Amino acid sequence: MKKTIAFVTALVAAVFILLTVVVTAVLYHGVYEDNVKVTLSEELDILSYLYETGEDITAIGGRNGRLTIIAPDGNVLYDSSSSIDTMENHSERKEVREAFIMGRGSDERQSNTLSIKQIYEAVLLSDGNVLRLSKNTSTVIAFFSMVAGPVISLVIILLILVVFIAAKASDYIVKPINALDLDKPEENNVYDEISPLLLKIARQKNQVREEIEDKERTRKEFEFIVSSLSEGLVVLGKGGRILSFNKSAAALLKEKLEDNKPFLACLDSPEAKDVVLSAFDGKDGETSFEVCSKIIELSAYSSRSGGAVVLMRDITEKSERERMRKEFTANVSHELKTPITTIMGFSELLANPNIEREKVTDFAYEINKEALRLRDIVGDIIELSSLDEGYENEIEEIDVKSTVSEEIGKLQHKAEENQVTLENRVPSSVTINGWNKVFSDVISNLLDNAIRYNKKGGYVKVDAKENNGKVEISVSDNGIGIPQDSIERIFERFYRVDKSRSRESGGTGLGLSIVKNGVERMGGEVSVKSSLGEGSVFTIILPCHSET
Ligand code: ADP
Repeated sequence: MKKTIAFVTALVAAVFILLTVVVTAVLYHGVYEDNVKVTLSEELDILSYLYETGEDITAIGGRNGRLTIIAPDGNVLYDSSSSIDTMENHSERKEVREAFIMGRGSDERQSNTLSIKQIYEAVLLSDGNVLRLSKNTSTVIAFFSMVAGPVISLVIILLILVVFIAAKASDYIVKPINALDLDKPEENNVYDEISPLLLKIARQKNQVREEIEDKERTRKEFEFIVSSLSEGLVVLGKGGRILSFNKSAAALLKEKLEDNKPFLACLDSPEAKDVVLSAFDGKDGETSFEVCSKIIELSAYSSRSGGAVVLMRDITEKSERERMRKEFTANVSHELKTPITTIMGFSELLANPNIEREKVTDFAYEINKEALRLRDIVGDIIELSSLDEGYENEIEEIDVKSTVSEEIGKLQHKAEENQVTLENRVPSSVTINGWNKVFSDVISNLLDNAIRYNKKGGYVKVDAKENNGKVEISVSDNGIGIPQDSIERIFERFYRVDKSRSRESGGTGLGLSIVKNGVERMGGEVSVKSSLGEGSVFTIILPCHSET
């Protein structure tokens, strides 16, 4: 821009300088020529006057020009520059002819060289002759060639000056433009002419900023939603390459995902690969597969851009729950079938009219035993289901010592039958937060087990202590103990270490499941330590009662 300003200014200046020189020269030359003509005319007047007074003008006539005297027939009588013998007749010369006719005449003629012009003026004398005086003047071209040297030097100096000034001026003009702060266009105060432009830039800048902020907000919202999705999300481009994925997807596929990597290379399951490939053919689908002992459900959807979107979710727990539910249902039917079959068998026998009298009592006893068993199983199942569905009663303050005493009271008879002593060693101040009914069932089941899986002369002790806002309650016995390889499984539904002993002693296989579920529902946890033949300690940790 600076160069353009300097160049244009220099060019304009050069044109103006040249025009000025030419016009001045032409005007000056005109004035100069007029002066020559006036002088010529005045000198001719003086010479003609002198001639008329009888002076010999030939002595002075040629000093300031060429003096010629022409006879009425046109022959030259005198010429101050040439010999009259060589001179031709002048009657046809314009100035001479005009002088003979009108008393005075003039003419201008170019000499053989372009640089000289001759000016003639002639006057008719009283004796009939014509007196002519002529002077040489330079032509415009000659005038120019005369002043050419200094003019060109002047023009060059002027041009250098103009270029220098133009460069400085353009620097001066451009400097504030270069110093414009386009980050804050409205705050610049440079030229009025560029204010509208700055305003427009400011407006557009604001518009662009708002659009960028808007897009950024939308992007962040989208990223937030995608990253907080518990489902794994993978967006695939046309060729099946990964365009983006969220943290959950990376975690599900054990960090195998990478941007731009072909997604199929991250999958080992042929079914999952097929479902993803089908999505590229416009067919949505879903399947499940196993990765590192996790079961993942994968759904693939074709996207409008020709790629695909893959959603994955960990359904291990769901599948496990489903498996347990099926197993539970199968176990329940099995557990119910046994007493029902026994009841049916004995009742058929009872229906026989020939049955011996003493056997009736035995059969009725068996039927009653199995009916009680049936009642216990159904009761435990109902209890477990209500815990599974979620206990919605208000949390209460529970006095641990009195609940334990109550449950010990209920089981005292059974303990005596089994020759087991029960001891409540819970301090009276211990209270917990929970549900009375659930907590009573937990203690009852633990005491019941400790009595049933004990030895004659054994003991069951209940202790409790507060620790860091928690209450630790332990039910210990010196009974038969639990084999180490069964400890992991005793809280499973219907799991028993010794099926016949459990059944004989009236167990349903659900007692410890009720304990675990109940404790967990109340925000606690249960653990067990046991050594075979020496006894077991079941410990439950529950939150202390607080007034909130
Ligand atoms: P059950 O109705 O069979 O007692 P539980 O769920 O209450 O069912 O207990 C599961 C199994 O854990 C029992 O069958 C038993 O083998 C074992 N068990 C539970 N408590 C004790 C204990 N105090 N001492 C030894 N074994 C126990």
